[in-house]
Amino acid sequence: MSDNVRVRFAPSPTGPLHIGGVRTALYNYLFARQCGGKMILRIEDTDSQRFVPGAEDYINEALAWLGIGIDEGVREGGPYGPYKQSERRDIYRSHVKLLLDAGKAYIAFDTPSELEAARSERQNFQYDASTRGTMRNSLTLPADEVKALIDGGAQYVVRFKVEPDRDVEVNDLLRGKVVINSNVLDDKVLYKSADDLPTYHLANIVDDHLMKISHVIRGEEWLPSAPLHVLLYEAFGWADTMPAFVHLPLLLKPDGKGKLSKRDGDRLGFPVFPLLWTDPATGAVSRGYREDGYLPEAVVNFLALLGWNPGDDTEIMSMDELIAKFSFAHCSRAGAKFAYEKGAWFNHQYISEMADDRLAELFKPVLAANGVDAGAFADDYIVRVVSLVKNRVNFVRELWDVSRFFFVAPVEYEAKSVKKRWSADMPSIMEELIGVLENIGDFSSSAAEPVVLGWIADKGYHLGNVMNAFRLAVVGECKGPHMFEITELLGKDETVSRIRRAIREIAVPEC
Ligand code: GLU
Repeated sequence: MSDNVRVRFAPSPTGPLHIGGVRTALYNYLFARQCGGKMILRIEDTDSQRFVPGAEDYINEALAWLGIGIDEGVREGGPYGPYKQSERRDIYRSHVKLLLDAGKAYIAFDTPSELEAARSERQNFQYDASTRGTMRNSLTLPADEVKALIDGGAQYVVRFKVEPDRDVEVNDLLRGKVVINSNVLDDKVLYKSADDLPTYHLANIVDDHLMKISHVIRGEEWLPSAPLHVLLYEAFGWADTMPAFVHLPLLLKPDGKGKLSKRDGDRLGFPVFPLLWTDPATGAVSRGYREDGYLPEAVVNFLALLGWNPGDDTEIMSMDELIAKFSFAHCSRAGAKFAYEKGAWFNHQYISEMADDRLAELFKPVLAANGVDAGAFADDYIVRVVSLVKNRVNFVRELWDVSRFFFVAPVEYEAKSVKKRWSADMPSIMEELIGVLENIGDFSSSAAEPVVLGWIADKGYHLGNVMNAFRLAVVGECKGPHMFEITELLGKDETVSRIRRAIREIAVPEC
């Protein structure tokens, strides 16, 4: 198959792209890249009622942020455009005509109230071979009346004439051959004269053919549409170019059964959208992975494993590795629980492994947001700070909490540690420590550490007490990376001045 592989991600711009949609896009992309095929982004905007301004830009921005590359699309162009359905009306119109001329579709004039009446008269009413003969359509009305109605401007729809009692085979690469009897299908509306637009059903299928799609990879909620895909391909005479189908399992709630929803995210505190989204109608804001501080490579890695595994325990995989390893054979058919905590774990892994200089750049805006002028510090200083603390955080913004003392001297000292560590003799021991530090020529961690530890041993001081008091004075609390790495970075003057300040400021307990 290789370079004949052409897949499409076909979102409708009806709101922000859901994280499940992002996973669908990702699997399409991984498969296309692996096969050396093409990834197409088609905007399915034929439902003018549900169109939401900004949604298309959001889709493009989200995919770009995640590194899901598009070969053909509205922005990219390509040989099978336009890639936006609202710009393909003529194509759909001519295809509707083909079906009508071939007697495979018909025109129906039933008004909403007539349809309502039919539904209330017959239980489980379905517009199909068993009922179409009783309705107001071009199969039941004389041809001149049909013409007169259309000429008179009556609104109508075009329906597909589904042949009854046919076993329709859908070839799904995950589920095998799925057979559905055509009796469960209704005569789907393919086109509406009211807005001169096709429905999703017609546009989606015609475009898959015209864009030479080889594999339709999409969420399992679209499985019920697959038999119509097959029947329409047949009706148009395209059966020999039928795409293979892959209906991906649902993303499930983290804590139970049922489909993952935005409410789960609100309730448990995680985003279900890739980027922050402000609803243009209500102004309501939904959080996004990007703004919440996730790295795109962590989100990609996390999503890739929701419904697929590489066949072994490997968890950390770059986009290139995912492309190399991806296969439908290792996709699960069962729904994947959205274990959102795992997303934070992946973020932690990617931050820990990230090059220090890249992480330092990501940290600078966080410094600014905390009132620190990053420009006042050498780049190399910030780079070394992040290298010392990066394995302690899940998110870039959390770097501030674990490294603030590198940028601002403590003005407060954690009360519990003061109580425990700042004994009555500590100020004078700290005075002594200042003397020791001032005499050290090489203030690097490896040189300073043995000098200080030697002094503590010589004096017979308690190692833990002195080192913790030292840390309390410099950091403000008894936490953080290796003490002598901290002092190396802060330098001798800053270290000594912090100890002096602590001696001045920390009240000695009364004995
Ligand atoms: N426009 C549909 C959607 O919003 C596309 C479904 C499909 O991929 O066939 O997801």
